[in-house]
Amino acid sequence: MEKRSEELFDLARKYIPGGVNSPVRACLAVDSVPLFIVRGSGSRITTADGVEYIDFVQSWGPLILGHAHPGVLRAIVEAAERGSSFGAPCEAEVRLAEVVCAALPAMEMIRMVSSGTEATMSALRLARAFTGRNRLVKFDGGYHGHGDAFLARAGSGVATLSLPGTPGVPPSVVEDTLIAPYNDTPAVEELFRRQGEEIAAIFVEPAAGNMGLVLPEPGFLEALRAICDRYGALLVFDEVITGFRVSYNCAQGYYGVKPDLTTLGKIIGAGMPVGAYGGRREIMARIAPEGSVYQAGTLSGNPVAMAAGLAALEALRVSDYAALAARVEEFCREMEKIFAAKGVEARINRLASMFTIFFTGRKVLDFASAQSADAALYTNLYKHMRGCGVYLAPSCFEAAMVSFAHKEEDFSRALEALRSWEPRK
Ligand SMILES: *Cc1c(COP(=O)(O)O)cnc(C)c1O
Repeated sequence: MEKRSEELFDLARKYIPGGVNSPVRACLAVDSVPLFIVRGSGSRITTADGVEYIDFVQSWGPLILGHAHPGVLRAIVEAAERGSSFGAPCEAEVRLAEVVCAALPAMEMIRMVSSGTEATMSALRLARAFTGRNRLVKFDGGYHGHGDAFLARAGSGVATLSLPGTPGVPPSVVEDTLIAPYNDTPAVEELFRRQGEEIAAIFVEPAAGNMGLVLPEPGFLEALRAICDRYGALLVFDEVITGFRVSYNCAQGYYGVKPDLTTLGKIIGAGMPVGAYGGRREIMARIAPEGSVYQAGTLSGNPVAMAAGLAALEALRVSDYAALAARVEEFCREMEKIFAAKGVEARINRLASMFTIFFTGRKVLDFASAQSADAALYTNLYKHMRGCGVYLAPSCFEAAMVSFAHKEEDFSRALEALRSWEPRK
C-alpha cells in the first residue's frame, strides 16, 4: 500500500536532490522509501495511498497539539485572509513576543526569524559581538541547525581542532568550534582552562533531542552555568525542540537553570516556519536597529505564522503537561516490558512527551553511548511498526514525539503492534 508514494518519490528524485527537501525524510537510515503525506488530523496522518498511520513524528516536534488543531487552523485561515505578508510590523508579532517572554523569565527581549537554523546562527553572531570573542563550545551529537559554524565534528580527543562535518564548510569556519561530549563537565572545564578567554558561548540543548533523546545528568546544566559565569561566556540554550514541549516554561523552567540566550522554533510556529532567539535585554539591545549587530528577514514575524504560534501557545498555556508526561511514562514502561519479554536489550530515554528507544545495554548519556545502539534492529522494528500502521522516526537517532492529541487507542494499538514484532537483524 505504498505504490503512490513510490511513484511520487521517483518523480521527486528527478527534480529534488534525493527526492526530499530535508535529508532524514528520505528514510535511507531505515532502508525504506518515504511515505508521501496528504493529510493529518490529531495523532493521525494519511498517505498518498490513502493509508492512515498513528504518527509519532509530528513533523519532528512542532505539532505538540497534533495535526490540524482547530484553534491553530482557524488562526491561520483568518490571518491568511487578511494578507500573507506585509514586510511591516503587525500586532501578532508583538503579542507572540509578549507571550513567549512571559513564559520564560530569562527572556526579556526576543527577535523572530523563520527557522531554528536562523535562530541559532543569529544567536551565535550576537554572542560573538556581545563578548568580543570568537570561539564557541558545542556538544558532540548536539544539533543546532545547519549553520556552518555548528557543522563541526570532533577531532580525535577533546582538545584537538574540530573538523568540518560536511563538504562545503571550510576548516577555517569550524576552527573556532570546540566540541565536548554531552554530560562531560570535566571536558568543558578543560576547554575553558585552555581557551576560556576566547570563548563567546556554550551552545547546548538542555535535553538533547538530536542524537536520540539524551537527558542532562543532574548538575550538568548548573555546571555549564557556573563555567560561563566564571569566564564571562554566554550560556545559550537551544530549545528549538524542548521549548514548550518539556513544559510550558520550556526545559529551562523544568530544570531551573537560566540561560543568557535561548533559541526557539518548532512549537512556537505550530507547523508554520518560525524561529526566534532572545534573552537578557542588555544582550538583545545589541541587535540592529537598536544596536549594530545586523540580522534581518523578509518574512520574519510573518502574520500568518505569528497567528499560528499565538493560537498554539494559548492552547498550551492551559494544557496538562504533567498528565501527558505521565501517559508517555506509562507507555514507555509497557514497551520496556515487551522488549524484556522478547529478550531484547533496550533503553528508553524519555522526558515529558518525547522518547527514544535505544537498542543497547548501556546507559545512554552522550553521543558515543547513543551510537552503541543497534541500528539494524531499529530498522527492523521501524519496518514492522510501519507495516502495522505506526509511523516512527526513520532513524534511531531521533526523538519520538507524542502530542496532546494522542488517544488511548493510539497507545494501545502501538503496543499491540510492538507485541507482534519478531525481532530480526
Ligand atoms: C530542529 C532543530 C534546529 C533547527 O531548526 P530548523 O527549523 O530545522 O532550522 C536547531 N536546533 C535544534 C535543537 C533542533 O531540534
